[in-house]
Amino acid sequence: MNAANAQGIGFPVSFEFFPPKTPEGADKLRVARQQLYALHPDFCSVTYGAGGSTQEGTFGTVREILAEGVSAASHFSCIGATRQSVREQLATLKAMGVKRLVALRGDLPSGYGAGGEFHYASDLVAFIRAETGRDFHIEVAAYPEVHPQARSPEADLEAYVAKVQAGADSAITQYFYNSDAYFRFIEDTQRLGAEVPVVPGIMPIGSSTQLMRFSDACGAEIPRWIRLRLQAFGDDTASIKAFGLDVVTDLCDQLRSAGVPALHFYTMNQSAATLEICRRLGI
Ligand code: FAD
Repeated sequence: MNAANAQGIGFPVSFEFFPPKTPEGADKLRVARQQLYALHPDFCSVTYGAGGSTQEGTFGTVREILAEGVSAASHFSCIGATRQSVREQLATLKAMGVKRLVALRGDLPSGYGAGGEFHYASDLVAFIRAETGRDFHIEVAAYPEVHPQARSPEADLEAYVAKVQAGADSAITQYFYNSDAYFRFIEDTQRLGAEVPVVPGIMPIGSSTQLMRFSDACGAEIPRWIRLRLQAFGDDTASIKAFGLDVVTDLCDQLRSAGVPALHFYTMNQSAATLEICRRLGI
């Protein structure tokens, strides 16, 4: 760990946003972004609806971030896509000046057949590398608590390693509140030969029902003690937020002390919690 990291000053952070659905949402996000830029993020990323459902919004938000002078990463999911459609989108992203992608398989809403010419994110990573060489820094998703559809924990580790072998430069994790899962993931994947930086994804806690809903869907575990404490607060949002800030700041502190390369915040298009956590961390 370097001296800057130990003090928090200059510790690398990045922020994730989703494309807003309304003009009001877009205005609010612009304000949130300006507040978060005070932390000098390495980059800001924008999610991408599987099947290309948010492509316009994703690319529009990426364009705005680039125009604001900040490095932007576009998420890019391949489920349902063809080689030709991916090729065209890569050309668009390159022309926009995007240099970083988060390459994903994605999930189609239930009722849609998978279709498409890509089965897994590793196929997409290999295709991007073959088509565009080193034009993009490629991030992939990592799941310290195991992806919910994985055949087994071992198979999931192998799937992650396949993404690195296909050409990923680094990874961002699904969020977690149990840092042991992250440390074990790093050990296991390094043992399997995957050495790229793995940046923990951090989800600030703002609402207990929203967190439970997300976590059930994406397979992130809320430890029993956190779940029970959140439930006990009921509708007392001030206490939920205060507790959430304490828990997530402690997690980040622990991760940073252990020498993680950076922290990636799932901002949910809000700035307050991320700003406060970074303030407490001295970032
Ligand atoms: P993959 O790495 O392809 O893995 C998917 C599943 O397939 C896993 O269970 C894996 O074990 C299995 N698998 C992989 N390869 C093989 C193989 N060869 N044989 C058998 N099984 C295999 N979703 C969005 O829709 N938009 C976003 O913008 C978005 N951003 C995300 C950002 C991050 C940092 C993370 C962690 C997730 C994000 N997601 C996003 C969610 C993601 O799309 C889902 O978790 C999706 O189900 C898996 O995508 P993946 O790229 O991890 O898939």
